[in-house]
Amino acid sequence: MPAEPPEISNLQLEDEPTRVIYCNGHAVLLTPVSKDGDIVIEVRDPSTLQFSFFQVDSQCLSRVSPYFETLFHPTKFHEGATLSEARLHLHESHKNSERAAVESLPRVTLEELGHLTSTRPSDRVVADFLRLLHGYDLPDLPKEISALKYAATLLILADRFQTISTVAPHVQHGKLAQALDRKLKASKTLQFNEERERQKLLIGLMIGHFPLVQRSSKALIINGSTMWDPEEEEEQDGEEDVDMWWDLPNGLETELRYRRECILRTLNSIQTYFLKQFTSKQRQCRLGYDSSAQCDSFQLGEMVRFFVRIGTLRLQGNIYDHGEGADAHPGNLDRLLESLRQCPSYQIDRNHSHCGLRTLILPILSYLELWISLEAQICARCWKDDRANYSWLSAPPSRTYKFQVSAPRGSRKNKSATSRTPCGTDHGVAKHIFTAETHEWKPDA
Ligand SMILES: [Zn+2]
Ligand SMILES: [Zn+2]
Repeated sequence: MPAEPPEISNLQLEDEPTRVIYCNGHAVLLTPVSKDGDIVIEVRDPSTLQFSFFQVDSQCLSRVSPYFETLFHPTKFHEGATLSEARLHLHESHKNSERAAVESLPRVTLEELGHLTSTRPSDRVVADFLRLLHGYDLPDLPKEISALKYAATLLILADRFQTISTVAPHVQHGKLAQALDRKLKASKTLQFNEERERQKLLIGLMIGHFPLVQRSSKALIINGSTMWDPEEEEEQDGEEDVDMWWDLPNGLETELRYRRECILRTLNSIQTYFLKQFTSKQRQCRLGYDSSAQCDSFQLGEMVRFFVRIGTLRLQGNIYDHGEGADAHPGNLDRLLESLRQCPSYQIDRNHSHCGLRTLILPILSYLELWISLEAQICARCWKDDRANYSWLSAPPSRTYKFQVSAPRGSRKNKSATSRTPCGTDHGVAKHIFTAETHEWKPDA
């Protein structure tokens, strides 16, 4: 975790359980976040229409949250004005008694808790979030609660109420951080789980944990997302909100999806390029004066058989157009590269040993593999500080990328470029390769 100084207070949580109070004749659940709190916050569950109440100290909240500061301000908002009036009234009627009964405290309704599903977060998370704003530490997390989802939800609430700087240290250090670390270590050996990866990515973004952003964004790009499936997208349209990790903020969702598309398009261009070359009139056979048209035909045949066999090519007639069945490859990119690498080295006879597809594409695949492993992920620093240049979406349009085996490869440490990127790495080469509109995969002459 980054070396932010921990700012966790030593205040231990007062063990006050949730209790039932009566409000207009109805029983409601109240969590006394602060026993002496002067305000009750109401949160309504849109699906059950039930309210949960949290007793809080308005001054504590105003101190750490510009959102609450404005809300409780006596002149800025209707809520604030009502509050100060109610407070005055309470003060009058309780001059000589101890503190006011919780039922008579002024109440504020929070309609919207941030980018979360219509089912609002559990009372537990909301209460813990409010506890953090009061300076309390987090209580122990029961085993049945997922540390990832819990931390992501806390941070979404923090984002909504402008309290990231108060909440983030509790995710970076202390017991939640330990629970998260355990979870992250354990999940390394597990299969890709999209929701988990998205929660990690969101947490990484919110607390500025750059390696987490890199790892999780790469996993999503390599494995793809159910959210990027065009059918899924139609279903999503018009439906209610999803949790923020299913729709990553600040254009990141679009960027990740676009990066995967660019990589797939680039890989597809290799096969299109060579099929075009071998179906053209130009001789491809590399045997110099003895080059033969039969060799080209043989290689074209084997090439088509290979691509069809691994499922990257579909032969389709053009006499009647069935429309674009444009389904992008849904699987894992590393596995796709691996199947392309299986290309056998056919030759028409023993003289034509270097005329086939294998000789042509292996150097290209190695080259692309290298750049995918280095640059498919999001560099969190450049994403944060230099998005306009860094984003693949902001690439200048319509360029051709020309590959030659012996051409200089470009480097991530290009002096003139690195001085211009926030992290000192030149991300430009990969961006050029994968966002180019056309690709020329020329073999060496
Ligand atoms: Zn040949
Ligand atoms: Zn960078």
